[in-house]
Amino acid sequence: MRIDRLLEEKQTLSFEVFPPKPEMDVDLAGIRRTLSNLKAANPDFVSVTYGAGGNNRPRAIDIADMAISLGMTPLSHLTAVGYAKEEVSAVIGALTDTGVENILALRGDKPLDSDERDCWRGFRRASELAGFVRYSGDFCIGGAAYPEGHQESVSPEEDIEFMMEKVRMGVSFFITQLFFDNAAFAEFAGRCLASGLRTPVIAGIMPVLRAGQIRRIIEISGCGVPDALDALLDRYADDDDSMRDAGMDYAAGQISDLWKNGVAGIHIYTMNKSAEVLEILRRSDIGRGAVPDDHKG
Ligand code: FAD
Repeated sequence: MRIDRLLEEKQTLSFEVFPPKPEMDVDLAGIRRTLSNLKAANPDFVSVTYGAGGNNRPRAIDIADMAISLGMTPLSHLTAVGYAKEEVSAVIGALTDTGVENILALRGDKPLDSDERDCWRGFRRASELAGFVRYSGDFCIGGAAYPEGHQESVSPEEDIEFMMEKVRMGVSFFITQLFFDNAAFAEFAGRCLASGLRTPVIAGIMPVLRAGQIRRIIEISGCGVPDALDALLDRYADDDDSMRDAGMDYAAGQISDLWKNGVAGIHIYTMNKSAEVLEILRRSDIGRGAVPDDHKG
């Protein structure tokens, strides 16, 4: 099913999973269990990340295939960094053969130890990759968006210009970087509309499950931390169980509020943790919480 069609019909719920390291899940039985559990929430699609540099590439394609076999719609992430056009073409061919209809076109990040020439062999920008995907098959193409700005962005106005460029190159929906402040998302959505950008923007939600881990993610992504969340991170810095519980409440509150305010869709960065994600949905107010007990983990 094409995601752009789904978005015309309804607010979507979706999940991101990542290919586990081979030594953690040799035969992908663990990720199959995760996907089967997540299916209980009836997601509209599941996205599968793609490591920059692509050493998890075959596993990412296998997981997209697995999602299809489980009756789910996959969204395959595809990154540009480090690849020549022929290499990207080969992956697009493999995705086509697998039956993938949706691709999230991303630039990826330059690995610290690599030089510019090795990185940008095929494409310099996600928009260029989107244009390439558009002419490589009949795909629904998504792009990344940054409500609080990308690390390299110059201004909020320019960010929206670049989103429009992605749309001109074939992107028909966006998924945002994680954010914890719904007011920042609302401002961003308002800026998009004021600039005439009508493409659906799906909100990316990362549940806070451990204080230390989230502090690191905040540092890397540069996203704002509302006082209420900051207080929780301090209070439960050394109490993982309480942080997990409070973090699930926080994510459920964020999701309910966005949904009520008409967000195009909710995309949960699951970190492959199905039990917590299903519990968050049970606590949130979006009608996807009726999860049978035997699927809660
Ligand atoms: P771009 O859109 O190319 O933007 C990169 C930078 O260039 C931005 O600062 C932008 O403002 C600027 N820019 C864009 N166009 C122009 C232009 N014409 N002129 C000048 N500047 C311009 N990474 C992975 O490695 N694997 C994944 O699976 C993955 N999944 C992701 C999923 C989501 C939903 C998001 C939000 C990010 C994901 N990332 C992933 C991270 C992403 O690859 C990085 O954030 C990367 O730094 C930027 O990718 P992009 O696609 O937004 O790039």
